[in-house]
Amino acid sequence: MGFNVAIDGPAGSGKSTVAKRAAAQLHFYYVDTGAMYRAIGLYMSRIGVDLQNEEQVSAHIGETRIDLAYDASGQRVLLNGEDVTPVLRSEEVGAMASAVSRYPAVRNHLTELQRTLAREHDVIMDGRDIGTCILPHAGLKIFLTADPAVRARRRVGELREKGKKADFDQILAEIIARDDQDEHRKVAPLRQAEDAVRLDTSDMSIDAVTGEIVRLAREKMEK
Ligand code: C5P
Repeated sequence: MGFNVAIDGPAGSGKSTVAKRAAAQLHFYYVDTGAMYRAIGLYMSRIGVDLQNEEQVSAHIGETRIDLAYDASGQRVLLNGEDVTPVLRSEEVGAMASAVSRYPAVRNHLTELQRTLAREHDVIMDGRDIGTCILPHAGLKIFLTADPAVRARRRVGELREKGKKADFDQILAEIIARDDQDEHRKVAPLRQAEDAVRLDTSDMSIDAVTGEIVRLAREKMEK
């Protein structure tokens, strides 16, 4: 059994950035569960399935195999053996992920993989339901939030850094719509676990948030 850190929060709260850095400092595996949902959303859209149709999406979920690989650049996501990592981060694919992640068949398909990784390794896992559903006994649970405008600004920066076009108002609207869908779905909605530490990152630097998570994890591991 590894030591598990669960990090949940809305889109753009800084989860993946700080989780990656904290994992490097703690020598833990970083597991980005959002990337798994993104890969499934991408698959369904590629084969032309209507993402609003639960029956259709559920009927095809068995065709997807998600594997994680790690290299110097971090986590790579393999969809049926193909490295799809470079195409996963767009807000368009984020919306696809949010659509398919509402369906129990999709969530069940990924739950076992996520739990197996956490059983076998020390992990920092980020997502929406890690502290509440996937790893209810995680050694440390963090809930990251930030003002929607701050989150949208971060996403715009992230996309522009990769040379992609990004419009602030459009990204803000997409983020708000995605959070709303994630918070109000029936299965495993985004919410803070009762025993999670809440960090509002609106006015915190990446180093400060990372440092706080590493400190809390070390404190819990010593107990
Ligand atoms: O974190 P990220 O923005 O990559 O997540 C993309 C989408 O995947 C989220 O908006 C959410 O709908 C879904 N997701 C989820 N459960 C997780 C991780 C992500 O439902 N554990």
